[in-house]
Amino acid sequence: MSTELIKQNPFQSMIDRFNIAADILRLDESIRQKLQRPEKQIVVNFSITLDNGSEKNFEGYRVIHNTALGPSKGGIRYDTAVNLDEVKALAAWMTWKSAVTGIPFGGAKGGIICDPRTLSKSELEKITRAYTKALSDVFGPDKDVPAPDMGTGPDEMGWLMDEFSIVHGKTIHAVVTGKHLHSGGSLGRVEATGRGVSIITLLALEKLKLRPARSSVAIQGFGNVGLHSALFLFEKGLKVVAVSDVSEAFYNPEGLNIPELILYYNLNNKSIKGYPNSVAIKHEDLLLLDVDVLIPAAKEDVITQKNAHDIRAKIIVEGANGPVSSDADKILHDNNVLVVPDILANAGGVTVSYFEWLQNSLLESWRIHQINTRLEDILEKGFETVFRIASKHNVTPRIAAYIIALKKVADTQSVKEVALDTPKFKQN
Ligand code: NAD
Repeated sequence: MSTELIKQNPFQSMIDRFNIAADILRLDESIRQKLQRPEKQIVVNFSITLDNGSEKNFEGYRVIHNTALGPSKGGIRYDTAVNLDEVKALAAWMTWKSAVTGIPFGGAKGGIICDPRTLSKSELEKITRAYTKALSDVFGPDKDVPAPDMGTGPDEMGWLMDEFSIVHGKTIHAVVTGKHLHSGGSLGRVEATGRGVSIITLLALEKLKLRPARSSVAIQGFGNVGLHSALFLFEKGLKVVAVSDVSEAFYNPEGLNIPELILYYNLNNKSIKGYPNSVAIKHEDLLLLDVDVLIPAAKEDVITQKNAHDIRAKIIVEGANGPVSSDADKILHDNNVLVVPDILANAGGVTVSYFEWLQNSLLESWRIHQINTRLEDILEKGFETVFRIASKHNVTPRIAAYIIALKKVADTQSVKEVALDTPKFKQN
């Protein structure tokens, strides 16, 4: 891969923004310490028999950042670059994301160091089942509820649900979200994050008085988030001029035909490599295109102080978690780039995950119209609140989102601690 990604520490980026918001809120030191650190971090090691008969060991993580607002919720990532600092940052972002959008969940994240592209389906199933078994005391519908993230999808979530149910001796659908429909999944979950990114993009364009039909967009990453963002924005009339995945990046100033590209991708083993009707560009150049909207939807820290000066997009909508590192924040702000932060922009996924969890818990099945309308309401309200707080405190939307989230979690955490400190009434 030709991309030169400058690796920052995503956990440090989270802490930098946290501290700015905590100073504005004048949070005291003890609550800061509590909210910066995860409640639990678990490392698991397990081995499976590969298809060729050899044994291979894997390391996995589950970090529970905070449960003040509800059971912890967060995806599981399969990637060779997974590490504890990354999982810690992702877990904290889940706490802030649920708090910003008003979803009654805490934050968690998990990951396994592996390359899902080189593993067979049966190997992935064994890995998922072994990881679930190792964490069967941690997961639970009212404790910690996993979901898909980079490298995982409905198959893995179905295996996780099944293994957890075997360990506990009964079928427990609500232990995980992002499942196939036949395993208790929700309509609209697969495309929810991309749908949310497109809703937020339209709101951001409106803020800058830009017309969708005259706006261009470049999207980094063509997986779950990137593909669906591209499709919904194409349907809303935006010109999607560039996309990339790990194999290739390309550009067409006239706009790409996204439904045709998706067809190509599905027939081409889920890769955009070799798509005609476009010009190949360097991965890093996609981020620097002169477009109205840039949607990084691949991974963390792709925009840093090294390339932030060269960003020409008017708006960045963070489809990925943590694509902009904290050392780039000031540069982008000084250059008038409107950045809609991940903890708002990609919250469509956790929102519909919450709907799935509710449907499983209530033994209900909602219609797609109901799901999409509620999703839109929640994201519009989140967007409005973030921009209102940003203008009240004269801060960026990112810091405003952290202010909202920290205040909500800190207030709830403090109430819980007072309750814990209160001596119990003694009964005779
Ligand atoms: P995915 O595995 O489905 O897709 C990732 C895509 O990024 C793939 O197309 C891959 O080829 C591409 N990619 C990887 N490295 C790249 C690089 N250096 N340059 C260009 N493309 C590259 O993952 P996803 O679920 O779409 O997740 C993407 C991001 O969105 C992650 O940060 C994830 O945490 C975040 N996110 C996902 C969800 C969700 O519901 N899936 C929800 C919220 C946030």
